[in-house]
Parts: sequence; C-alpha cells; structure tokens
Amino acid sequence: MLSYQMTKDQINAINPDIAVIPVASLEQHGPHLPVNTDIIIAEAYANGISMELNAFQIPAVPISTCREHMGYKGTVWINPDTFYRMMIEICMCLEEQGFKKIVIVQGHGGIFMLTPVIRELNATRNPELQVCRIDPGNYLEQFKNAGVISSSAGLHADEFETSIVQYLHCDLVHDELIQDFVPEVTRDYLNYGSIYCASPSGVWGQPSRATAEKGGKLLELGRKLMAEDIRKIFAYMNKNPQGYSSF
Ligand SMILES: [Zn+2]
Repeated sequence: MLSYQMTKDQINAINPDIAVIPVASLEQHGPHLPVNTDIIIAEAYANGISMELNAFQIPAVPISTCREHMGYKGTVWINPDTFYRMMIEICMCLEEQGFKKIVIVQGHGGIFMLTPVIRELNATRNPELQVCRIDPGNYLEQFKNAGVISSSAGLHADEFETSIVQYLHCDLVHDELIQDFVPEVTRDYLNYGSIYCASPSGVWGQPSRATAEKGGKLLELGRKLMAEDIRKIFAYMNKNPQGYSSF
C-alpha cells in the first residue's frame, strides 16, 4: 500500500498522480464511541480508496469545523476560515509536488466549508489540478439497499459509525452504554441549535443495530462504490475543463 508510512524514495519510485486526504473531526460521539471516531472512519475509507486507486494517502486532518457539538470537553474545532486556508494550502502543496488529482475523504458530515474549498480549487486550477470529495455518510442508502445496514436514517454515533469502530477498534466501544435516539427534527435543524437540542445524548440514529461484521462489510463495499464514483467524477471533469464558474 502506498502511504505516508513509506520512505520518500519508495513513494517517488511509484510516482503516484493521485493524493488522498482524509479529513476528520475530533468531537463527541455519544456515550459509547470515542471522540476520535471520525478520524478512525476517515482513515479507514481513505486506506481502501488509496489501495483501489494506487494513490498516496496522507494522515488524517484531525480537526475541522464541529462547533455544533460543543458543550463538553473532548470536542475541538477551528474556525471555518482557518480551515478553508489550511485545506487550500495542503492541496496547493500537493500540486507543487506533482500531484494532478486530489481526493478528499470527508469523515464528518458537518464540514460545509469543504464545498467552497473544492469549488475554488477546481475553478482556478483545473485541468492542472482536479479535486473531488467523497463523504461516506452519503452512502447510507446504498448500504441499506445492499442489505448491510438496516437503517439509513442515522447521522451520528449511529449504526454505521458504531459498526465500523466495533470492527476496527472494539476495545474503544462501550457496548453497555449504547442507546438509540432518533430526533424528531431533520438534519437541517443543526443550523438552528447544537446537536444537544436535537439529542440529549449526542446520538442520532440506532447504534443498537451495529455489529462488527457489518463494519467490515461497510468498509469493503464502501471502498469499491467510492472508487467507482471518484473515477466517474474525474472523467466528468475531463470532459470540459473550461467554463467552470468560480464560487
Ligand atoms: Zn462521526
């Protein structure tokens, strides 16, 4: 596998065109999951995608924007404008080192600042550099249709996230504290109040349905679906690199 655990000579001998950046968040995940849950998930999917695409994966960016989870120690965020600059600079650095394509694997659904990052880079750098974003949280319906999970209504510390952490790090999951909670409001309400307005425990979904076996299948199926989508996105961007309107 081509990763940051190799030497520069090993990496340059392969001379990859694609870089993969997992972007995570350090934030509460209810009473049963660790605050590094999104780091574990983003890195796991980034590993699989890097292997599918023979891409160079860098370590996960551990902190992003998650102010909606504030309230208890363990959640850490930076301002959206700081995050924006940091991501632009990481991508520009990769381009300077010869990468032509970047895949951002988003391990936390609430990083809305990633959209302007991607649009700005594609608007100004395509075709020299092309950037695509994959959010594993967008695949829940497909995972449900494939019979891997039973609910696609989860959002946070749910069946999906709990299954993956059980599979990769069962020592970090407090099974005895698992409690389901499905808020009455939609995800949009995170625009109007913290997650604790919607869910007193910080859980959004049905983690009681999680199993380690599901976690393994979620990773295996997900990496294939995501690699396929990434190929489609880059092919789409090659169709007409001009005429893209800036954000
Ligand atoms: Zn999460």
